[in-house]
Amino acid sequence: MGRIIPDFLCYNTNVNLADLLKKSLDSSLLDLIHRVADESSAFGFPIYLVGGSVRDLMLARPIVDLDLTLEGDAIKLARALVKKYGGDLTIHEKFFTATWTPQSSNSPILDLISARRETYASPGALPTVTKSTLDDDLRRRDFTINAMAIRVDGDYFGELYDPLHGQNDIEKKSIRVLHPKSFVDDPTRIFRAVRYAERYGFTVEPETLKLVNDESRKVLSDLSGERLRHEFDLIFDEPNPSAMLKQLSELDVFQSIHDQLQVMRYELPPLEEPLSGFGEFAVPDMLSFRQSLGWTLYLINLSEADIETLAERLAFPALLTKAVISASTLKKVLPSFKEWKPSQWTFHLDDLPSLSVYAVYLVSKETALSDYLSKWQHVKPLTTGDDLKARGLEPGPRFGEILRQLRAARLDGEVRNEEDESRLLASLANN
Ligand code: ATP
Repeated sequence: MGRIIPDFLCYNTNVNLADLLKKSLDSSLLDLIHRVADESSAFGFPIYLVGGSVRDLMLARPIVDLDLTLEGDAIKLARALVKKYGGDLTIHEKFFTATWTPQSSNSPILDLISARRETYASPGALPTVTKSTLDDDLRRRDFTINAMAIRVDGDYFGELYDPLHGQNDIEKKSIRVLHPKSFVDDPTRIFRAVRYAERYGFTVEPETLKLVNDESRKVLSDLSGERLRHEFDLIFDEPNPSAMLKQLSELDVFQSIHDQLQVMRYELPPLEEPLSGFGEFAVPDMLSFRQSLGWTLYLINLSEADIETLAERLAFPALLTKAVISASTLKKVLPSFKEWKPSQWTFHLDDLPSLSVYAVYLVSKETALSDYLSKWQHVKPLTTGDDLKARGLEPGPRFGEILRQLRAARLDGEVRNEEDESRLLASLANN
């Protein structure tokens, strides 16, 4: 990557990125930012684009979220915007933030945040938040590359605030914390460091790397299951989770979570979306398909007992625990199914979550598993329960058994058409 701003030397408030903003953002987005900024100015609140948006702008990467921080009351600003332009509002009083979803369907959701200071009552605790200045807001952040702001109101439009030399680190491709206690305050930042490093091809700067030490690992080991799991969830959302897991493992951070994580293989197969013909996949509400698949593949070689302990430690939703255990068991018994007929595969796999079947397919490439997902699971006999009743059969276990045998015959190619099926039905019904 070439230099972003050729004359950048160090902390320099004279850098103006107005042209970069105009070049990188599409006109409707710029227009939206101007509208918000004008409203903010009217209240006398300086307003800035901050954090990941500035970083990604400098890296010429697409800007996914638009985070706007203002020195003032974000909730008051958000209410004024809704009054003037409509749209939906979600308010988080405790954190002095508001999320505004403008009416226009192609408009992004805007997070409006009051600049704040964060203090940690104890290592690893969630921070206590108080309203403050932009400078404090930048100093509460994780890494220098995420601690920059670009002012967007009035004549200040485009002015860069970079008190912690984030731009310098972007140029050096370096991930650097802001102070030596950063990982003790919040050890989830260790995961974040690795995510950014791998995602952007950066390196974690040596002094920062040294802070992944016994003290920060100890605080990490005391974090809640939800917070830890969420960090992995975010890794599975990245294009290359394997490299991130490997780097975290080399930093010895998994040991403090569960000793089996340390001995895992990290080469996950690509987390491909299944083909549309593969049917429906149930995943827990709080996780995406990719995250659920990532977890299933990641833990597939563990024993049931280890999966259960980990699932408890990391607060897995029940559906995910079931999918991981089913996948791990299926993978182990797979070699003994080799000679099975399609009906045997189907009746066995029908009882398992599709996610587990798909995960084992990705690691084994066993064609019976893709045949099951794309074809066999959908195969049904033409005969229905009503047909059996019409023949004078009483509903009961025998009913289900006949339908099952008709389905098996179809799956195994013993019944190919209506005539075949009628013949088989007649013989089963007479028995
Ligand atoms: P991504 O592209 O991964 O979403 P992002 O920078 O947008 O990156 P978010 O998790 O949305 O990341 O956080 C927004 C900003 O909030 C970050 O850029 C960073 O400045 C700050 N931040 C987020 N999490 C932490 C944390 N644990 N400690 C300190 N600052 C944080």
